[in-house]
Amino acid sequence: MTTPTSELDRAAADFRNALLRRDDAALKRLMAAYQPAYTRMQARVAALTTQIATAQAAGETVRPSWLIERERLATLQHQIVAEWARFADAAEQVITETQRAAVVAAHAEARQLTQAALRDAGVTTGADVVRLPLAAMQDLIGVLGDGSPLRGLLNRLGQQAAQDVGDALTHAVAVGRNPRRTARDIRDALGGDLNRALSIARTEQMRAYRSASLRNYQANSDILRGWQWRATSSRRTCPVCLAMDGTEHGLDEPFASHQCCRCCPVPLLRDRETPPRETGAEWFAKQDEATQRAMLGPGKHDLYKQGTLTLADLVGVKDDARWGRGRYQRSIGDATAAAAKREAAQVAALVQVQNPSIARRTDIRQIGSIGPQLTTLVGERSQATVVCLSDGVVEHYRKHSNQFDIGRAEAMLPEIVRNPVMVVAGTKAKSLVFVGDFDENYYLVVPIKALPEELWIETIYLDTKKRFHKRGWVQKGSLYQREGG
Ligand SMILES: [Zn+2]
Repeated sequence: MTTPTSELDRAAADFRNALLRRDDAALKRLMAAYQPAYTRMQARVAALTTQIATAQAAGETVRPSWLIERERLATLQHQIVAEWARFADAAEQVITETQRAAVVAAHAEARQLTQAALRDAGVTTGADVVRLPLAAMQDLIGVLGDGSPLRGLLNRLGQQAAQDVGDALTHAVAVGRNPRRTARDIRDALGGDLNRALSIARTEQMRAYRSASLRNYQANSDILRGWQWRATSSRRTCPVCLAMDGTEHGLDEPFASHQCCRCCPVPLLRDRETPPRETGAEWFAKQDEATQRAMLGPGKHDLYKQGTLTLADLVGVKDDARWGRGRYQRSIGDATAAAAKREAAQVAALVQVQNPSIARRTDIRQIGSIGPQLTTLVGERSQATVVCLSDGVVEHYRKHSNQFDIGRAEAMLPEIVRNPVMVVAGTKAKSLVFVGDFDENYYLVVPIKALPEELWIETIYLDTKKRFHKRGWVQKGSLYQREGG
């Protein structure tokens, strides 16, 4: 934990804690309101499962059709919808009140945060922070993100609960499942519906708070240029929010996050740099390996550790016709593809600076940058850090090496250039031979010509690991060995 230093940081942390306390209180009230409804629903379910057991004991074969006869299941489902509607009354009230409290708080706090930012920047006069009338935010209360009434969604959850219970019972009867197991399935289903209600409560409170904050920031566009995404750096924060933490957004940009996100916007002053603070990504980089691994999962963490993935590569953006823009955590494949794109753009920008004549040529691919561990080794020979490959060379090695999977080998090149298993002095002067694992038995060997201002791949080929290590020039010329490589 870092201690917040600026007044803005302190105020933002206090306001967020208050927001989370209100959120907690709302969830507790919802759970309390659900308890009696849940007890009654369970009793209704138990009455029907007892009937099933009694019928079975009397020698009747109970099939799904038995549930439909005499409207046994339909009656139960009506009862569940009615019980849920009673809960929905309470839930609607709790969520609406929490939204209202969030809007009122945001109304005051947006102004206080703006004033804190001004004081942090040493601006004490001349800046008048406008406060919108509360009425201008009335439309954020009692509605969902798409503007539809909150009540509609809560009612649909009741129908879902009835459906879930019906499905569980029908399935149980069809496969002859024992009643205790059935009771557990139904409990889980009803618990899942409650969780959905809790998640709506949290999401809608946060949305009301953020929207009200952003509207107040927009009303102060003469002082503010935008807002900054603020997450709490903790083990419980999702990687998407850690990556977004500290990012800057324009006043017109909505706060596009995910369900149950607990992040908030803070104001950014016009004509002022944002005061430095530790970002979520920086915080994450300082955590021990076990913590990082638990937060990312092993696959993503391996790539993060190698430097292939950054946290920002994990952030996906999606646009939904109904709910607008949102963010989600990318799959490992999508994140890797995004990382490759980012890397390529960075390399292209680097070449533009290092060697504009190469950047202009269309017969050249920029493969990637050498890793920082190789800076000294390569730096003795070349000022360039980006490795290039010309179409002529590609044509050449494609012609001569039809014995292996060229596509796979080419895809490996950026990683080998960045993080080779070893680098050996080549037989030709100025040649550095980068070596990567192609598979268990083969190395992918990549000789690179190091000219003072350019690095060029000369060819690529496979060699068995056994043979490679026995070659005289290899034994003579090892320049770099990856740790554990
Ligand atoms: Zn978040």
